[in-house]
Amino acid sequence: PAAASVTVLANPHHDKPKTAEKPAVAVHGIHKRFGPLSVLNGVDVLAKRGEVVSMIGSSGSGKSTFLRCINLLEQPDQGQIVIDGEEIQMKRAANGRATPADRRQVERMRSRVGMVFQNFNLWPHMTVLENIIEAPVQVLKEHKAEAIDHAHALLRKVGLSDKHAHYPGQLSGGQQQRAAIARTLAMRPKLILLDEPTSALDPELVGEVLRVIRQLAEEGNTMILVTHEMQFAREVSHKILFLHQGKVEEEGAPVDMFNAPRSERLRQFLSRTR
Ligand code: ADP
Ligand code: MG
Repeated sequence: PAAASVTVLANPHHDKPKTAEKPAVAVHGIHKRFGPLSVLNGVDVLAKRGEVVSMIGSSGSGKSTFLRCINLLEQPDQGQIVIDGEEIQMKRAANGRATPADRRQVERMRSRVGMVFQNFNLWPHMTVLENIIEAPVQVLKEHKAEAIDHAHALLRKVGLSDKHAHYPGQLSGGQQQRAAIARTLAMRPKLILLDEPTSALDPELVGEVLRVIRQLAEEGNTMILVTHEMQFAREVSHKILFLHQGKVEEEGAPVDMFNAPRSERLRQFLSRTR
């Protein structure tokens, strides 16, 4: 096992799945302000199918806002979002801001983009199984029996088969996050956004969640991951973006970003986090 992990570290791209050429997500020129505060100042991100793109950057640099713009939990003021070949239609309001033009398209796109939050966001009054089948049944109109079968398969995948009847409050943070990942997967998303999925966990629970995320990466899921787990980002990512004050300050392959950062800001950021 030790030798295997050395191989992975020496050549982080060694066992990553090949990616097809068509982008799963193409985001261009995203701007977002909150009142006087300009949070995103023209962010571009491109991820091909099967790619993992990690976003790093200081607290307040706009990482969460960017993810929330991609699945339209926030409305970007400007910019283009294309997911799985379909562009989100925007219209320009009287104040000059762009807003999504078609509610039904927004609903459809949202159901294709999964989001995993720092604080799990499971419904506390539902069992793990009920949490997982809720959206497939309500939104995708899956038959309940089919959704339950799928949920059990996903629970096996994340190592929670024996917890299906538990309520979130009866689980550890690591178990809750794995259940939240299973819930996201139940929607068969084209793109998975993960916003600091291990930041709320006690250190001893981080590994079990990272293992699941690594497995998703190896299975070829397209993901955008915001994380402070630098070693992990380096191992699973095809590309790293460093966000600074709402702009992509630097991007590149993990080996270049971490071993040979070009910008002084990235150098400083990395020296603070190592
Ligand atoms: P990060 O995830 O990189 O820490 P965020 O995207 O959460 O950064 O926040 C970027 C900036 O936007 C911060 O200054 C934050 O206070 C501000 N911000 C985020 N959401 C809102 C909001 N809904 N209203 C006002 N300001 C916000
Ligand atoms: Mg954040």
